[in-house]
Amino acid sequence: MSEQEIREIRINPIIPAESVLVATARSMRPKKAEDLAPRDTRKHVDTCPFCKGSEHKTPPEIFRLPEDGDWEVRLVPNLYPVLGDDRQDASFAFGLQQAIDGYGRHEVFIDHPHHGAAIHEMSEAHLARVLLAYRLRMAQLFAADPRLKYVLVFKNFGPAAGASIPHTHSQIIAMPVVPENVEAEARNSAEYYRRHHHCIFCTLIDEALTFEAAIYDRISGSVRRKISVGQYIVERGRHFIAIKPFASRYEWEVHILPLQHKADFLDATDEELADLAAVLRRTMARLDAVIGGAQYNFFLHSLPHDAHREQHGASYHWHLEICPRTSIPTGFELGSGLFVNTISPEAAAERLRMAEITL
Ligand SMILES: [Zn+2]
Ligand SMILES: [Zn+2]
Ligand SMILES: [Zn+2]
Repeated sequence: MSEQEIREIRINPIIPAESVLVATARSMRPKKAEDLAPRDTRKHVDTCPFCKGSEHKTPPEIFRLPEDGDWEVRLVPNLYPVLGDDRQDASFAFGLQQAIDGYGRHEVFIDHPHHGAAIHEMSEAHLARVLLAYRLRMAQLFAADPRLKYVLVFKNFGPAAGASIPHTHSQIIAMPVVPENVEAEARNSAEYYRRHHHCIFCTLIDEALTFEAAIYDRISGSVRRKISVGQYIVERGRHFIAIKPFASRYEWEVHILPLQHKADFLDATDEELADLAAVLRRTMARLDAVIGGAQYNFFLHSLPHDAHREQHGASYHWHLEICPRTSIPTGFELGSGLFVNTISPEAAAERLRMAEITL
């Protein structure tokens, strides 16, 4: 990709409201997160409640993997849950205002016994176990309470991503409502399916794997840009693909999707999760190599278990969104709802693909 300056609003094909201003000119660069604290890379910290030997400092464990012997992953309730199941229905409404009871569960996966372990520093087998723990708990939560409509699994890694406890961990929040951005993905992909009889996520994967185009300048007729096969692909496994979205909100944002259509993360097989572990690990190693110590949020988007669950099975496609945090949103972004991305997604994808990783 040439160093040609880009200044364009890119429309997210699934959620148009999440569109992006790609502006590679320096003046548009939002405030860098340069003074944010570096992440904690220590292996063991005596005072940390998540480190080995401090198991008694967490609320009573929900489960651990493996079940016998030394634990590799532990699940515990969040000490300060944002949602809980300890109150009776407290929903109410007055005038235009409406409140739904904050019912649900908020739990913490301690992803690894080593305090500061990054995803790419964990073994593939270990990561596969973390993913199995996600699937297991998601299934248990949905089975335990039919009032739950959505279970969000996410990870905040590093202070720049808002991780309040430095020990590597992810979180799971079970909710009585479907979050608006997942709802929008489900609704819009169903609408696309209604018109095209095809899953929009599968179409995006197909385009990344097969699409070539030349875009001409309307006045001079010269080639303004070329889109080539594989330009947005960062990593590939047997069952998964990591793609840099054309309308990336974050400079180093990458999405990982199953190659074969599947709406619900709960339907991922053990073999698929092992492949996801490999693709995720290599993707995180690439991000870490290019950014130099990636601090990020990632989250799983899977089929909501609401009234449309059956109907959306053909049109929704589960995925993992990885959003490294390299800048802080400014008034322009908060005021306009338009994300500003100062690195062209094509250039970013190329740098990630070319990054030398040693795993
Ligand atoms: Zn620790
Ligand atoms: Zn699909
Ligand atoms: Zn999503």
